[in-house]
Amino acid sequence: MQYISTRNAHYMQSPDGVIREGISPEGGLYLPAVIPTFSAEQMDEMISLDYCGRAETVLSMYFPGMAGKRLHEAIISAYSHFSHPAVAPLKSIGDGISLLEIYHGPTCAFKDVALQLLPHLMTWAQSVSGEGLRIVILTATSGDTGKAALAGFADVPGTEIIVFYPDEGVSPIQKLQMVTQEGLNTCVAAVRGNFDATQNGVKAIFTDPEAQRRLRDMGCRFSSANSINWGRLAPQIVYYLSAWLDLVSSGKLAQGEPFNICVPTGNFGNILAAWYARCMGAPVHKLICASNQNNVLTDFIRDGVYDKNRPFYKTMSPSMDILISSNLERLLFELTGRDDAYTALLMGELKEKGRYSISGDMQAELSRYFWGAYATEDDTARSLRDIYREKSVLIDPHTAVGTHVADLYRRETGDTRPMIVASTASPFKFATDVLACLEEESTGDPDGDIQKLSELTGEQVPVPLTGLSQRPVRHHAVCDQDEMADVIDHFLHLRPGGGV
Ligand SMILES: *Cc1c(COP(=O)(O)O)cnc(C)c1O
Repeated sequence: MQYISTRNAHYMQSPDGVIREGISPEGGLYLPAVIPTFSAEQMDEMISLDYCGRAETVLSMYFPGMAGKRLHEAIISAYSHFSHPAVAPLKSIGDGISLLEIYHGPTCAFKDVALQLLPHLMTWAQSVSGEGLRIVILTATSGDTGKAALAGFADVPGTEIIVFYPDEGVSPIQKLQMVTQEGLNTCVAAVRGNFDATQNGVKAIFTDPEAQRRLRDMGCRFSSANSINWGRLAPQIVYYLSAWLDLVSSGKLAQGEPFNICVPTGNFGNILAAWYARCMGAPVHKLICASNQNNVLTDFIRDGVYDKNRPFYKTMSPSMDILISSNLERLLFELTGRDDAYTALLMGELKEKGRYSISGDMQAELSRYFWGAYATEDDTARSLRDIYREKSVLIDPHTAVGTHVADLYRRETGDTRPMIVASTASPFKFATDVLACLEEESTGDPDGDIQKLSELTGEQVPVPLTGLSQRPVRHHAVCDQDEMADVIDHFLHLRPGGGV
């Protein structure tokens, strides 16, 4: 298995190199030179496996050098921290719609599925390199990635984890989760501005040769836990394949029968994983891209124009408040028949003008596989409330963006094939907004709202979200975008040689 870059299809990289580096030297994103596929027999065999067994089958194709005992133990260890034995269970809400619950990990959002495993992939990749450098994970977060990365990497030997989040753009609970993170190798700082400012800051540091040199001098190297890292995407492919196998084994879907997947997405990461599940052999009819009011992806899918020059809205699905969907680059590459020069051209236009448009042919190709729509704040609240009142199922606002758009899709197209909607976070993680959607008063404090939501609905609070405001705040830093490099230097100087 070799990997290539979206901006240089001749540049070959090993699986361990892809994990270590995160992004290719010319700024492109790595993906497999050939996407592995399953034969009908292999799929049959996988039906009888549990989630970890399926994960091992899929991931050994992407990381063959780790296959065997090391990968097996990594997967068991990663998913033993999930509170649901099925790891990613399906919950039917009737009308042929099933919620794929991918939030039963230690931070209560789907990012745990990849980020509980990534430290294992990373330490494997680092051991293969033999370079003996400490890995410094540098991450920009719109809320959920940061906490999931911290939880995954805290006290993992040979790693440091540094997380930047936009000071105006994460929920109070998300913020509490991050600033109370324990572990000597963890560093968390707020950046003044929105998520794109934070992400641009991280990207600038990643590509700055001077910053890299300073790091080498300290015996370290940067790596990324953002969803541009293939090590984030590959574990996400597993749950779509596994959900499909579950539908087949439970008789809700015939062998080979097409179904739809609807994903609430911002960075285009989670829906891209569904696209790769399709490429590997799942009979997906349409991939439905659900956006919130930051509907740059809806416009792109409908008109073929990607334009980030637009107002930025803060919504109650903050993990999707994103105007630059980094992972779309991989899809552009795929839809152009893996044309690296054209992909690089489009990405250049995005950087310079904040905008690009694709050809009519390419747009036709896009619409063959994808359908897009968005939910306003009112749509989101209504969908959440309706599903609670009519089905007694409590979902979070991100998921409600998905259920609203899934509904729109069915009404506009008349296509009522079985549908999986990705349920991306525990409703308790966004308790204040969930209460508002249910037309209930907030108590004025995150812990109080979590309690109130539990009493109101009779649902149990996930253990990781209990007593958040009693935990000591360990991380106080706030900086501007141009001070992020100083925060990193300062933290690493306090930890000469690392050690946890
Ligand atoms: C990160 C996140 C999303 C969006 O994921 P993408 O990688 O942008 O597809 C949706 N919901 C929740 C709860 C998230 O944490």
